[in-house]
Amino acid sequence: MKTKPMTVTIREGPTEWTEWWVREPRSAHTTEVPSERHLQCVWYDPMFHPPNLHTAQNEPVEIEHPGQWNLEAGPDFLGAVVRIGHPPRRIVGDVEVHVHPADWLRHAHREDPAYSNVRFHVTYFDDPPMEVPGAIWIPMRSALRSWAGFTFEAIDVTAYPYAARSKVPPCAELVRNWPVAAQEEFLHRAGVERLRSRAAQWAHRVAILGVEEAVYTEFMAALGYKRNQAPMRWLARRVPWSALNSECEGDPERAYALLMGVAGLLGPTRPEMAPPRWIWDLWWKMRARWEACALSRSTWHLDSTRPLNRPELRLRAAAVWCTRSPMPAWEWLRIADESPSHWIEQIVQTLLISDPWAAGAARRVLGPDRAAAILVNVVVPFLISQGRLELDDARWMEALPLEVTNSIEREMAYRLFGPDHPPSLRRSTLRRQGLLHLFHEYCLVDRTNCQECPIVPWLKKAQRKFAHMAHDPNPLRGIPTARP
Ligand code: SF4
Repeated sequence: MKTKPMTVTIREGPTEWTEWWVREPRSAHTTEVPSERHLQCVWYDPMFHPPNLHTAQNEPVEIEHPGQWNLEAGPDFLGAVVRIGHPPRRIVGDVEVHVHPADWLRHAHREDPAYSNVRFHVTYFDDPPMEVPGAIWIPMRSALRSWAGFTFEAIDVTAYPYAARSKVPPCAELVRNWPVAAQEEFLHRAGVERLRSRAAQWAHRVAILGVEEAVYTEFMAALGYKRNQAPMRWLARRVPWSALNSECEGDPERAYALLMGVAGLLGPTRPEMAPPRWIWDLWWKMRARWEACALSRSTWHLDSTRPLNRPELRLRAAAVWCTRSPMPAWEWLRIADESPSHWIEQIVQTLLISDPWAAGAARRVLGPDRAAAILVNVVVPFLISQGRLELDDARWMEALPLEVTNSIEREMAYRLFGPDHPPSLRRSTLRRQGLLHLFHEYCLVDRTNCQECPIVPWLKKAQRKFAHMAHDPNPLRGIPTARP
């Protein structure tokens, strides 16, 4: 006998939707609602791939490669390889995992370009239908429930993604046997490659935009780290540095009003993020000229963004920094000829910004950690591109401050050197840059589950050279780290 359906309407976020799963009478299985993390573990670990997985259109699904577990903003897995249908079509793309299909809308992924390569929308529940353009919907509940013995309780979510890595990748099989000095040298060279390629991008950027606009745009993007980089870039395009300065004539208050107005961030907000009252007076005077190009508030990632990373605060730093005269980039170029310890310290000082409108004690809106990150990722490649720093000069490389560690770098160190690698491997800015380079250059674009990764033959060649040059203090010398 059918039980009368019960519906629960959830009002959360911009959409209102009905959670249909509670229509069924509760059983041991229906009460087991997994977390998103549990579902990510199921997708990631072959041990938990259910035997009868199907798409919502009832085509068989075989997960050839679950993709790279993405520890940054964006889809949950990058570059998955999945075989769909019979005969199978091999499809490559990113994966987004949700408990409920409608979480796609609730989490505002539809408007976010970072999700444009999502080809698989993996959910637990299979109702109500939710169309994600370009993506194949794979609901997992039926397959998991019909798999005898499966229970979410068997999954240790704290073990993922590091400890549960199922196999050692081929690059790691090689470098884990190397002496620590060789491992350090390998990472250092990869770091140099990252700086080299970033400097080349900078040279192009400066040739097109000029120094001020290029530095301003990249500075704004760096302020958006890590969830609002794209909106910050869009804002910099809509309010270019030249327009900002002619409109505001070096006045940070007007610059803040203009940036907040064009950012679309002057609407209702949390009390602690409310802009000063004077901002409205200033914005009203400029509004007619700028309103047409204003962004929407929904462009920004505001939920679950830490208060210090909120765009409302970061734009305070932008307003102060961008109205300095002369533009700080010219100061960087001037002082880069001094000794490394001196210029590095001086440039960091140009990046430390306190909130001029904070009530009470001045609070930093750009502190030492972010300043170090901007120095390494924006200023240094810019200076290399302008011929102020040499890539074979160890003096400034060794003097660079350590950036705050990030999840990609930790993941890459784990992937390459295992859980017990010496911490000294990551105690160098260049080596950290090297880990990022390896991830972005090789892992992120790999679609072959490491089988055709071009770094592997290169490492084998380096290893042979290594064996035959046992008495050479630097056997990795001269070996390029760039993609062959
Ligand atoms: S893609 Fe390449 S660099 Fe990344 S883990 Fe696989 S073999 Fe290593």
